[in-house]
Amino acid sequence: MNVVLLGPPGAGKGTQAERLIEKYGLVQVATGDMFRAALSQRTPMGLEAKKYMDSGSLVPDEVVEGLVEERLAGDDVAGGFILDGFPRNAHQAEALDRILSESGRALDLVLNIVVDPEVLVKRLTGRRVCRDCGGNYHMVFGPPEVEGQCSCGGELYQRDDDNEETVRNRLEVYRDQTQPLIDFYRPSGKLVDIDGSRSPDEVFADVASAVDRAGSAGVA
Ligand code: AMP
Repeated sequence: MNVVLLGPPGAGKGTQAERLIEKYGLVQVATGDMFRAALSQRTPMGLEAKKYMDSGSLVPDEVVEGLVEERLAGDDVAGGFILDGFPRNAHQAEALDRILSESGRALDLVLNIVVDPEVLVKRLTGRRVCRDCGGNYHMVFGPPEVEGQCSCGGELYQRDDDNEETVRNRLEVYRDQTQPLIDFYRPSGKLVDIDGSRSPDEVFADVASAVDRAGSAGVA
């Protein structure tokens, strides 16, 4: 099962991806996480990506497409993947089509998680992330039991790009460049809209039934 998670920053793609991994054993390929990992290791690519991430704009297509192509060639993704944060514009969507068709694969499902932009600003500016396990909390909607600390014991921090100015820019970039992909994928019949404004459990119930339906369509 090869899945794309489409949706604005803060829609809950990472949270849903975690649950998909647990339930279906898929491998998550999250380009934002890959850039943050490269940055924490201070690789040249990570340092280059930081310039774009800090302002909330997109890292150049050739950089991210090369990274994804290499990652999707890995043996561990042969059984299925969840793309989280890629593609983010038409050029990347076409690159993904090419990468998959060259390796005899195809997408099975595109989940479009829909959330109102003002809700997203509140979610993102209050978000805290665990440095160790990547778990997500929210200062108001889902605070940790111990202030500043994840249930795994790791330290919670605020992502550099979760300040209000950068968040608004990220949402604008999403609206202008990524949202048009909904029309790119809709005609394929593989796109399913999910109301992401509800609790993670409620959202996952719909996500899982979309995956189950796509799975049985593939078998039939
Ligand atoms: P995310 O963790 O998905 O919110 O991504 C954080 C930042 O990483 C974005 O604001 C971009 O600067 C960069 N990024 C992640 N994925 C992509 C992508 N597919 N294309 C370009 N830039 C990306």
